[in-house]
Amino acid sequence: MMRIGVYVQVPFCQTKCTYCNFHTGVVSSSRFAPYVEAVCWEIREHRELLNAAGVVWPERLERSSAAPLQNQSATASERPIVNTVYIGGGTPSLLETQGVQNLLDAIRESFCAEFVEVTLEADPETIEAEKATAWARAGINRVSFGLQSFSDKELIAAGRMHRRTDIYGAVPILRAAGISNISFDLIAGLPHQTKGSWKKSLEELEALAPEHVSVYLLEIDEGSRLGKEVLQGGARYSASAVPSEDEMADFYEMTQDGLRRMGYHHYEISNWAKPGFESKHNLKYWRREPYLGFGAGAHSFSGTERWANAHDAAAYVNALQNGRLPVEQHEKVTSGQALEEELFLGLRQLDGIDVARIEQEYGVTLKAKFDPLATAGLIEREGSVVRLAPGRLSISNEVFVELLR
Ligand code: SF4
Repeated sequence: MMRIGVYVQVPFCQTKCTYCNFHTGVVSSSRFAPYVEAVCWEIREHRELLNAAGVVWPERLERSSAAPLQNQSATASERPIVNTVYIGGGTPSLLETQGVQNLLDAIRESFCAEFVEVTLEADPETIEAEKATAWARAGINRVSFGLQSFSDKELIAAGRMHRRTDIYGAVPILRAAGISNISFDLIAGLPHQTKGSWKKSLEELEALAPEHVSVYLLEIDEGSRLGKEVLQGGARYSASAVPSEDEMADFYEMTQDGLRRMGYHHYEISNWAKPGFESKHNLKYWRREPYLGFGAGAHSFSGTERWANAHDAAAYVNALQNGRLPVEQHEKVTSGQALEEELFLGLRQLDGIDVARIEQEYGVTLKAKFDPLATAGLIEREGSVVRLAPGRLSISNEVFVELLR
């Protein structure tokens, strides 16, 4: 029986980081409770709301054919099984702990909960002992920190609220509360970052020994204030101190070497884990397994359809208060799109893709696509498995462009 993932979007932050290109906003905390209430309602009523919005939730994801589990009503036996939850944002750690509890209770009541991984995204300066204990009691067993850097100079330039000392304060609090699976997010390419400061951030990471690490390259696009300034050649937001693409590629390679030496398994282009701590929830995205997203801007995938809720949090709450789910970007995934996703998402994973399976499933021949990439040393082949060449991961986008051409 398929296990699905549930994502909950909390689009609120304390400030807007200069590099941020997410749909998040800085709002009064008085708006948090009505938002959580709307999301809980969306979770509880998701079947009816999706039906009304024209989304077809495939029968194979229901458990109606399964016998009721012991001590469960027939109704409970019909609910999809959820084994991973990810409460992301934004900064969900800003919510009252009761809000986090209410979200998880709504999921437990609306699905067959067999939780193995329940993640909360948090900013280091928001961590307090009481909160951490309440999160653990509510069922959170993994915290993903948006810490980005250990350098105060870089954090200040990026508009972050926390400082290096907050990170050192937060990790022991979580561990003392029993949250033993901690992930760090770092950004390679922040203003003022140098090889020396990046090396220092990696050393500090080693001292705190998180179970999981994500490293993202700074995105230079129109979606963020910093990105726009860089594109326009300006100097605001320390744009003139953004490292070059070559330097970012160096940081990435330093990360690969450093984390390998520390015992981390590189399992996805941007993700490393201690053995057994790979993100079970995020693996569903890359493996094209179904997930349901709740909240403003949350995306969902049923295996055959993709859809997303409206981004604007106020419009989202307003629509739900009027009994309607504000679904946007609803599309049936065509066979051609599914094939592209198999290649693009599959190759993000360092284990690679099984070309024989994909060729059989989609009735295509991929040899002509892969031959030039293999000749250029961008991919490796082993039997029917194709994977990105480990030394060329920092230019993976070029491979994807070629592949999807
Ligand atoms: S905390 Fe995260 S989501 Fe919020 S503004 Fe900063 S980068 Fe964006």
